[in-house]
Amino acid sequence: MKIGVISLGCAKNLVDTENLLGILSLGNQEIVQNYEDAEAIIINTYGFIESAKSEAIDTILEAASYKEQGLKKLIVMGCLSQRYKPQLVEELPEVDRFITLNEYKDLGKILSEELGVKIPNTYGKTSRILSGKPWMAYLKIAEGCDNKCSYCAIPGIRGPLDSFPEEELVREARRLASQGVKELNLIAQDSSRYGYDWDHRLHLSSLLKQLDEIEGLRWIRILYLYPDEIPDDLLETIRQSRHILPYFDIPTQHGSNRMLRAMNRRGSREEILERVQTIRNTFENAVLRTTLITGFPGETEEDHQLSLDLLEKIRWDHLGAFTYSKEEDTPSYELEDDVPPEEKDRRLQEIYELQNRIVQEDRQKLLHHSCTILIEGYEGITSMYKGRSEMFAPDGTDGFVRVRSDRNLKPGDMIRAEYIRINGYSMTAEDRGDADD
Ligand code: SF4
Repeated sequence: MKIGVISLGCAKNLVDTENLLGILSLGNQEIVQNYEDAEAIIINTYGFIESAKSEAIDTILEAASYKEQGLKKLIVMGCLSQRYKPQLVEELPEVDRFITLNEYKDLGKILSEELGVKIPNTYGKTSRILSGKPWMAYLKIAEGCDNKCSYCAIPGIRGPLDSFPEEELVREARRLASQGVKELNLIAQDSSRYGYDWDHRLHLSSLLKQLDEIEGLRWIRILYLYPDEIPDDLLETIRQSRHILPYFDIPTQHGSNRMLRAMNRRGSREEILERVQTIRNTFENAVLRTTLITGFPGETEEDHQLSLDLLEKIRWDHLGAFTYSKEEDTPSYELEDDVPPEEKDRRLQEIYELQNRIVQEDRQKLLHHSCTILIEGYEGITSMYKGRSEMFAPDGTDGFVRVRSDRNLKPGDMIRAEYIRINGYSMTAEDRGDADD
């Protein structure tokens, strides 16, 4: 059967989609890129914020229009199905089946019944098919979240923390490395809590030590570390490793203790500062990334200034900031959304203006420093290669580096390079030969 697969949302959802592609491929189904040719379309949705819901609904309606051109089955899975299945069944009769997250263990069986073909019922247990660049993969180390951030609907959708067994993850990582993956990015809702659901202890260090031994993996990066759960032994594991990058993605969300408490976040701005200082003392080349929310209910100008102040004190390498929006089924939904939209936008703009200045000032310090770059493509207009150094995660938010080289480089090559021109976010490096293993 010709099947089109659409993946929406975050890297965690992408891993689910790649697991889906794995069982479809094992069942000898043909994956088509052109949806006009598809006999079935499966959409893996994301739906924990308003904009993601709208995008998912638009995508479903657009896919449904192919039913006039021969599409026989339209199937929707993922967060949106999990969250709204009863309403969706009523309101979107164009969709033949909504599959919730709880049903994934029987995904092959359900798809076999729906599509009338034989698909193995081995979702998550067999090789996934990487849908992106073959040298990079995400490794989802856990599902769900036990934290109760008051603005977040994810625990209600994805359920409590469920860490995947170490031996399965190591096996999957080995398989990915044997397929040519050089860069592995560990993801979860809160990666720092990996294993906490087993015995109330953190097991990330133990997992990392095993992954670090895998032949072929050159970069291992951890995304989403909760600020109060980055213990010294984790830093020591990274420091002693061969391939784990000192890249710290630490969503802090706010710089005011009053707001952190209102958001039901653990830890204080003082503790965040202390952890960042320890990281910087441990790693000369630490890369730090965070996310911030502005305009949370009750946020005053003083709170906002505290966020700016923390930003100035820490000087993150990368930042993503968002204005607060009310989400159904979250504790903060009941709170009055009392910061006017134009004020939220003004605060967001101030955050980004400050971040832009920090980037402008701090990246200059990297000029003539050496780095390793993973080549990802070629840019005709500048006649330069494009790639990412250690300081850029692959999820599209950190950016990229242009590379000047006389050599014939291929996507996936890893080279040594020197930064030769830096202007804020725009960075150019020069090829200095192949990178060591
Ligand atoms: S850590 Fe907080 S924001 Fe992140 S998924 Fe869990 S509850 Fe949501």
